[in-house]
Amino acid sequence: MSLTGNYDQKSQPTCHCCFRLLRWIPVAFIVAVIGWSYFAYVVQLCFFSVTSIAERAILLILFHLFFLMFMWSYYQTIFTPIGTVPPKQFRIPPSEVDKLNRAENEEAQKRILEAFARELPVVNRTITGAVRYCEKCQHVKPDRCHHCSVCGVCVLKMDHHCPWVGNCIGFTNYKFFILFLGYALTFCLYVALSSLPYFLQFWQGELEGGMGRFHIVFLFFIAAMFAVSLVSLFVYHIYLVTLNRTTLEAFRAPIFRGTGPDKNGFSLGRLSNFQEVFGDQKVLWFLPIFTSFGDGLEYPIQAQHQRARPSTSYASMGETSTSVGDGVSYPIRCMEDEEDTESLLGADSRQEFEIFSRSDASIVDDIH
Ligand SMILES: [Zn+2]
Ligand SMILES: [Zn+2]
Repeated sequence: MSLTGNYDQKSQPTCHCCFRLLRWIPVAFIVAVIGWSYFAYVVQLCFFSVTSIAERAILLILFHLFFLMFMWSYYQTIFTPIGTVPPKQFRIPPSEVDKLNRAENEEAQKRILEAFARELPVVNRTITGAVRYCEKCQHVKPDRCHHCSVCGVCVLKMDHHCPWVGNCIGFTNYKFFILFLGYALTFCLYVALSSLPYFLQFWQGELEGGMGRFHIVFLFFIAAMFAVSLVSLFVYHIYLVTLNRTTLEAFRAPIFRGTGPDKNGFSLGRLSNFQEVFGDQKVLWFLPIFTSFGDGLEYPIQAQHQRARPSTSYASMGETSTSVGDGVSYPIRCMEDEEDTESLLGADSRQEFEIFSRSDASIVDDIH
């Protein structure tokens, strides 16, 4: 395994701009479906098919409430800049890169990287025990950070690259992504259930409205289809949040310096795990506003891995963090009763997710 290498920006394909445009095709498709569903529901269903004014008003108010939350969280997931690695702390200076390139063997490279990372708050290692280093970005990778070949950068707490939002899902937008899944599911269920009576009227030949009636039929089918595909993804990500585990870490356990691989290495108990992503202000849990703890560079870890962390990088044992984003120190948090939440999901649904997400995960250049 080579630890080093030069990355020439000029060597990127000339059709990079075309590639960037292609990234937006799935997003454009989703936006087109949302736009059409708005027309089908508001115009065809509420104004042309619903005769009661009171029923129309209730349907429209609820529809716009779910629609607003769905679009807000979708917008935040797409347009929140991904968390990238601060070069000042983590970038390896050219002289050190030169040393790495000239090192006689892998052991010598490992020693150079270990010396450079001595003061950095990194406890994750590669499978060979080396400090994790990105050859393309030429910096040490913070814990839970991975290089995304689509975005072309290392992404903090990378979960996966999602083509449906045209963006990486990581530290800065993971909460927004989960809310997007949740509100998209709520929106689809609401549209499917509230259009069901009119859908049934169509099959009984009682629905009037000419060709416009077909919009209501398709609306029900498409909303139900999206709801079915979203429910499993949403439940899976809630399950990952309760374990403080990313999709990539679910495929391959992070390796801790001195203690080896541990899928639960970042798990702090279900409530604390949830608060790592959603924060501790309940009123903001359901709004797509950033409330996650930390700065994406350093994470609290289980006590058995703590001895691998530089002694200056965390506070004294027993201290509990209540602030968001101090960016410097992360205390050890008290372990809560850790129930094995794997039993919440059946084997079939886990397998389904692994198949669903594998294509996304395959774009990570170096999982460690
Ligand atoms: Zn990178
Ligand atoms: Zn990406």
